[in-house]
Amino acid sequence: MEQHSIARRRFLQCTASGIAMSVAAGNASAIETRHATMADVDIETEADVLIVGGGTAGTIAAVQAGRAGAKTLLVERGSLLGGTATTGGVAFPGLFDAWGEQVIAGIGWELVKKSVELDGGVLPDFNTVPEHHWQNQVHINPYVYTLLAEEACVAAGVEMAYYEFPHSIEASDTGWLVECVGPGTRRRVRCRQIIDCTGGASVVGILGLPRLRDDETQPGSLLFKLGGARQVGREQLDQLYVHGADSSTSVTLTKANMDGRRSLLERLRAEGEQARLLHLQPETAHRESYRIEGETMITVDDYRAGRLYDDAICYAFYPVDLHTRDGVRPEPLDEGVVPTIPLRALIPRGSRNLMVAGRCVSSDRLANSGLRVQAPCMAMGQAAGAAASLAAQRRTTPLEVPLDDIRAVLREHGAIVPKPL
Ligand SMILES: Cc1cc2nc3c(=O)[nH]c(=O)nc-3n(C[C@H](O)[C@H](O)[C@H](O)COP(=O)(O)OP(=O)(O)OC[C@H]3O[C@@H](n4cnc5c(N)ncnc54)[C@H](O)[C@@H]3O)c2cc1C
Repeated sequence: MEQHSIARRRFLQCTASGIAMSVAAGNASAIETRHATMADVDIETEADVLIVGGGTAGTIAAVQAGRAGAKTLLVERGSLLGGTATTGGVAFPGLFDAWGEQVIAGIGWELVKKSVELDGGVLPDFNTVPEHHWQNQVHINPYVYTLLAEEACVAAGVEMAYYEFPHSIEASDTGWLVECVGPGTRRRVRCRQIIDCTGGASVVGILGLPRLRDDETQPGSLLFKLGGARQVGREQLDQLYVHGADSSTSVTLTKANMDGRRSLLERLRAEGEQARLLHLQPETAHRESYRIEGETMITVDDYRAGRLYDDAICYAFYPVDLHTRDGVRPEPLDEGVVPTIPLRALIPRGSRNLMVAGRCVSSDRLANSGLRVQAPCMAMGQAAGAAASLAAQRRTTPLEVPLDDIRAVLREHGAIVPKPL
């Protein structure tokens, strides 16, 4: 690989100098050649931890890994951080509290709280148990959130690569060799650990490890605002369901966006002359696609019972919340129940040096409908960031890092860790 890269660079150098002479001589076909070859930038990056996907979970994983001292690279195929919370417009993360107390804190909460404060917003009172779960979701200004998230990554020393995504991944003696591509860019990454935070476990898919997916998945939603004046971040956007929305490939993503926009256009026309489209999110937000088959799987019975796993690394709290063609009827958890997420649910079965965080957590479909919300995704991101950075430092794999050490890093960085029995 190394030889290939050097050879390619030499080729580019030769081509460039050849072009310079041809251009001076006014050779038009050489100018075309220049456009075809000079755009390629070859980059070699060494990292302890590579995080793929800078969304809800990935941003927090990156900040945690960076703050824990790992040389961290964050590769995000889009142009900004936050994922579903920002690009998707779901700017109301929850739930950080359960039954009158805060159960999720740490780096995700730090960024959410800071973004509310900078925006002059109001935080919910976690000491009171709301009548409806959604009343304690935190309304953030997504623009402020993405600015603060990027600032936190930079301050933690995270190297950022927007517009890039992994094209091929192979195991190496020291971890992984990952080839990422982006417009005009080819980046070879040598890293010890990977955290897949792509939402639909794309890295796990590239590696051919098992993923789970039901024939019918929950609809995505396109978020927008029709009519009247609005205040960014303080007022909920309108949504329309995009049935069949699938975040797996560029082809299915294109379809989900076009389906959503076509439905919106129909609605706009149906609203009549007075209707004004004031705001439109750049892409359809996805609720469900692939989940991993992990070292353990959280079932809906575990979730409803609030099972306290031996290797629990964070809490989760939300009703079972499955959206179908008939809408959604959230099923609240029984009073006092607070589910937990085990470290093993973040590790693809049989893998080494690989974790996931976010909605692709190993879980059955109904458990996932509650686990997929943003506060647990952030908490999973922080736990994966801590485990992967320790594993990289110790030249081992996350499952072999003593749990107490992972929990100690999490507590040091403000996270709430479930107490073992
Ligand atoms: C309409 C809707 C309403 C919701 N309502 C709520 C709610 O009220 N409260 C709540 O807390 N949660 C809610 N959720 C759930 C929650 O927002 C998501 O489940 C959660 O944000 C997912 O986080 P994630 O980190 O797994 O994925 P994402 O936030 O989607 O992040 C994935 C990131 O990975 C990037 N990516 C993907 N593939 C690649 C690749 N191959 N290479 C590089 N980058 C890649 C994406 O661009 C994205 O930035 C809702 C979800 C939807 C869709």
